[in-house]
Amino acid sequence: MLHYKSKALFAGVVLSISNLMAQGNKDYPIQPVTFNHVHVNDQFWAPRIEVNAEITIPYVLQKCRETGRVDNFLKAAGKKPPTNLTEYPFDDSDVFKVIEGVSYSLQTKANASLERSLDTLIQIIGEAQEPDGYLYTFRTMKPEKLHPWISQKRWEKDSDLSHELYNSGHLFEAAVAHYLSTGKKSLLNIAIKNADLIVKDFLYGKAPYFPGHQVIETGLSRLYRVTGKKDYLALAKYFLDIRGNGVVKGSEYSQSHKLVTDQHEGVGHAVRAAYMYTGMADVAALTGDQSYINAIGKIWSDVVYKKMYLTGGIGATGAGEAFGAAYHLPNMSAYAETCASIANVYWNNRMFLLHGDAKYIDVMERVLYNGMLSGIAQDGKKFFYPNPLASMGQHQRSAWFGCACCISNVTRFMPSVPGYVYAQDKNNVYVNLYMSNKADIQLPSGKLTLSQETAYPWKGDVKISVNPVKQMAFAMRVRIPGWARDEAVPGDLYRFASLQKANKIVIAVNGKPVDYQLEKGYAVFNRTWKKGDVISFELPMEIEKVIANEKVKDDQGRFALQRGPIVYCLEGPDHADQAVQNIVVEEQTNFTANYNPSLLNGILTLDGKGSATSRQVNSNQLLKKELPVKAIPYYAWNNRGPGEMVVWIPSQESLSRPKPAPTIASKSKISGSVSSQRMLSSLNDQFEPSSSEDKSALYVHWWPKKNTEEFIEYTFDQEYTISESKVYWYDDSPFGGCRIPANWEVLYKQGNDWVPVKALTPYETTKDKYNTIQFEPVKTTGVRMKIKLPVNHATGVHEWIVK
Ligand SMILES: [Zn+2]
Repeated sequence: MLHYKSKALFAGVVLSISNLMAQGNKDYPIQPVTFNHVHVNDQFWAPRIEVNAEITIPYVLQKCRETGRVDNFLKAAGKKPPTNLTEYPFDDSDVFKVIEGVSYSLQTKANASLERSLDTLIQIIGEAQEPDGYLYTFRTMKPEKLHPWISQKRWEKDSDLSHELYNSGHLFEAAVAHYLSTGKKSLLNIAIKNADLIVKDFLYGKAPYFPGHQVIETGLSRLYRVTGKKDYLALAKYFLDIRGNGVVKGSEYSQSHKLVTDQHEGVGHAVRAAYMYTGMADVAALTGDQSYINAIGKIWSDVVYKKMYLTGGIGATGAGEAFGAAYHLPNMSAYAETCASIANVYWNNRMFLLHGDAKYIDVMERVLYNGMLSGIAQDGKKFFYPNPLASMGQHQRSAWFGCACCISNVTRFMPSVPGYVYAQDKNNVYVNLYMSNKADIQLPSGKLTLSQETAYPWKGDVKISVNPVKQMAFAMRVRIPGWARDEAVPGDLYRFASLQKANKIVIAVNGKPVDYQLEKGYAVFNRTWKKGDVISFELPMEIEKVIANEKVKDDQGRFALQRGPIVYCLEGPDHADQAVQNIVVEEQTNFTANYNPSLLNGILTLDGKGSATSRQVNSNQLLKKELPVKAIPYYAWNNRGPGEMVVWIPSQESLSRPKPAPTIASKSKISGSVSSQRMLSSLNDQFEPSSSEDKSALYVHWWPKKNTEEFIEYTFDQEYTISESKVYWYDDSPFGGCRIPANWEVLYKQGNDWVPVKALTPYETTKDKYNTIQFEPVKTTGVRMKIKLPVNHATGVHEWIVK
C-alpha cells in the first residue's frame, strides 16, 4: 500500500524553492505537483510502483553488493585491498541511483530497515571520499593499474570515457532525493563537498573538459535548488557552454561537435543527448536563457518528427547507442535503450514545464506506457537494455547486465511516476495523466484536493472530484490526449489509418456538459469551484491502426495497433507454432478488445483474423492458412520467455517471413562452432537477406574472433544425394567486425569421417549474393562447411542451402 508520508517535510522544501523564486530566482513557470503529494491507488501503476519498491529495489541493492559495486567504495576507503574491481568506472553511479530510488520510495512508504541500509551505505561512501571532496572509487582505491578509461590526472579523460562527472551528477541527484525524503544531510554534505571541488577546478580553475556523459547538469540544478548556491547553477551552465567550443575536441557522439545553442538535431548517444537537453531546459528555466530554449525546441522537432519509434523509444542504432539518420528506424535491431526512454520522459516533461503545451505530455505518455515500461519484466527482476520492435527470439530479458545503467535507472524512475500526473502554474491546475489517485495541491488562492477515478488505460472514463477547502476561483486544464483527437503523434511520423473526424469530447461538470476552449491541448475550465464538484468525461478508446510516414522504409506495407496510449504487438505464445513473423493481416481487418484478467497480470487484448504464410518446395507461391490473431500490449512482451514478436504487422504477403518449406536444410539438425542454437537456427530459416549487411533478421557470426577456423554442420533427417551448396555471407563492412571469409570448403560425412566434396565450380567469396558450388554427387547423412576467418576480422553467414 502506498500512503502519504513526510508531507510536512516536503512542504518545507517546496517553501525553500518558492523562497528562491521570491528572491527573484527564476524557475520553471509551471511546477510539477511532486509525487509525494499524489497518492496513486489504481490497478495499473500502483502495483508496478509497489513491485519496484518491494522487489526491484532490494534486488538491485543486493546486486550492488554482490557484484562488488559497494566494495569499490570500501576499497577506496582503504578497508579492502584494491583488487578485483568491477568492470566500469561508472559503476559507482548504480549505487547512487539506487539510493535515489530508495529515497523516493521512502516518501510514499516508510521502511526503517531500508533507511538503515542507506545510512550504512552513505557512511561507506563518505569514507571513500578524498579530503578535498573528490569521489571516484576507481582512482582513489589506487589499483595496481588504472582502468584504460582513466588518465593519471583527474578529469583529464572525462570528455572521453572516465565518467568522473557522470558519477558526480548521479551523486547530486541521489543526495537531493535523500535529503528531501529523510531530512538527513549525510549524503547532501558529501555531494556539496564534491560539488565545491568541481566548482573550484572548473568554474574558477577553468579546467576545459566537458562532461563526456551528461547528467551533472541536472544534478547541479537540483543541488542549486536546495542549497541556493549560485555557483552550482553557474557550473551547470559552464558545462553546457564549453561543449563544442574547440578547446577539447568534440564529437557528435557526445553532443560536443558544436556549441549547444547551435545544435538543431538529435545526434549521437541517445542517453547522453536526452540528459543534456533536459539539463539545458533546467538551466534555461533557472536563468531565463532563451537561446537554450530555442535550440532544444528545434532538436525536439527533429527527434519527434523523424527519429522516434512508435513506442517512444529513441536511439535507433546499437553502434554508439545512438540516434540514426532521419527516418532510419529499423525494428529488429532497434536499440531504444531503457535509459533513453527514461531520459525522454525527463526531457518531455521539462519541455511541458517550460511551455505548458500538451504535445510534450503526448510524447511523454507514449514513452511511459510503451518504450519505458517494456524495460522491466513483470516480476521486477528481469530487464531489457535495448527495446526492439520485432524479434525472431534472439532477445531475452536479463537478470543483470555488466553495464547496469538501465536497471538502476528503473529503480529511481518508477517511484517518481505519480509526479507526472499534475502540474500547477499560479491558479491553473494541469491534469496531464490519467490514473486513479488522490492529490493535495496548494494554489495561491488556497488548498484543494483532487481525486481521480478511472480504469485507464483499459477504459476511457475519467472522473475527477475537485475539492477546494473553500469556494475559490481557479482553472482546471484537462489534457485531451493527441490520440483522442486523431493525432497519433505531434508531427507526421505516424498517423492513424482511418481519419474519421474525431468528435469533440464531451466534458461534464456536475453531470452537465460544459462548453470549453481547447488551449495547447487542454480543455480549460476557469470557474469558481466548490467542494464536491466533479469533472467527468470519456476518452474514446478506439482501436487504431497506425501507419508510418512513407520515408520510414522499415514500416512500409505494415500497420501497428494502438488503443488509447497503448501500442500493441503480436507475440509467439498466442499463435500457432509460436510463430508471428509469418503472419499477414489485411489492413481492413476488424479487431475487438477483450479484457483478460489472467493473462500477463491482466491485459486487454486485441483480437482479429489473419493468415500464416509458409513456403513450399519447388514453387515460389506461398501457402496461406487463416488463423486467429491476438495482439498484446507491447510493454508486456517477453514475459513468457524469448520468442517471436512483431509491432509492425505486414499487410502485404511479401513482407511476412513465411515458415520454411520442408527442404533438406530446413529438416536438418544444425550444429557448429557457435554456442547459440538460436543463432544457428537462422541458417535454414529461408529468410532472404537483402544484402550481406542486412541486420533485419538473425544470422550466424563469429565476432569478435578473427583468423580462426570455424564450422557449421547439417545433420540430415535421412540419407540424401546432394550435389550443390549455396551460402550467403554476412558482412557488415566498413563499420562492423564481419567480412567474407578468407576461404571455405564443403565436406560430407562418410562413415565417421568428414571428406571434402569434389568441387566442379570454384569456391567464391562474394558479398551480397549466394555463393554456389556444384560438386560430384554424394550420398550422405550430413554436410559440413569449414570456414577460415580473415586475419583481422570475423565472418558471418545468413543462409545455407544444400541440394
Ligand atoms: Zn541504460
